[in-house]
Amino acid sequence: MSISENITSIKSSLRPGVRLVAVSKTKPTEAILEAYHTGQRIFGENKVQEMADKYAILPHDIEWHLIGHLQTNKVKYIAPFVSLIHSVDSLKLLSTIDKEAAKNERIIDCLLQFHIASEETKFGLSEEEAHQLLRSEEYSAMQHIRITGVMGMATFTSNEEQIREEFRKLKSIFNCLKETYFTAQPHFTELSMGMSDDYLIAIEEGSTLVRIGSSIFGERNYIK
Ligand SMILES: *Cc1c(COP(=O)(O)O)cnc(C)c1O
Repeated sequence: MSISENITSIKSSLRPGVRLVAVSKTKPTEAILEAYHTGQRIFGENKVQEMADKYAILPHDIEWHLIGHLQTNKVKYIAPFVSLIHSVDSLKLLSTIDKEAAKNERIIDCLLQFHIASEETKFGLSEEEAHQLLRSEEYSAMQHIRITGVMGMATFTSNEEQIREEFRKLKSIFNCLKETYFTAQPHFTELSMGMSDDYLIAIEEGSTLVRIGSSIFGERNYIK
């Protein structure tokens, strides 16, 4: 199947209100353009340099989402154009994003990334860390970031019940944060969960943003 056929078929399986982030990491601009010409406008990358390079040469109505781990010293390269950072996992990172957004006279939307998987290697906050962050004076003073929801990755496993439980956990964290800190902020709406192998489960559990790469563009070749 071609990229455009894959996109059409995935889009037909999304519930209303669920948006598709086409994860184009490692893929060339021609592949992104093929997706673009089907009407796809949201693309996800996990490396700052790669995203900045692609931004420079591709149409400017693309919404670029940073989905991978972000180092504070690299925020400046994407601050002028990124539309959503899914991977905020510390107060220090959020504070850097706030400063770089201010320099660019914009407000950058961010998601708090939670560690919901059983693997040790996945990045993300614990609930306790998120509460600390959201209660901090430093966070209250930020004027150039907006937290619009949460993100998480389920364990890489074939056990569907485990994946479902982890997505439920993320949804319950989302609900708790919404009630505790965002009742007056209607923009706190995003639940970024679900990848190629588990996005149908994620949608059943309330996902609003699915991040899909290999089911659109094919397997990634990391030897480069
Ligand atoms: C690569 C990646 C995806 C997409 O993974 P696929 O299995 O190819 O759909 C989604 N989210 C994050 C954070 C990723 O790094």
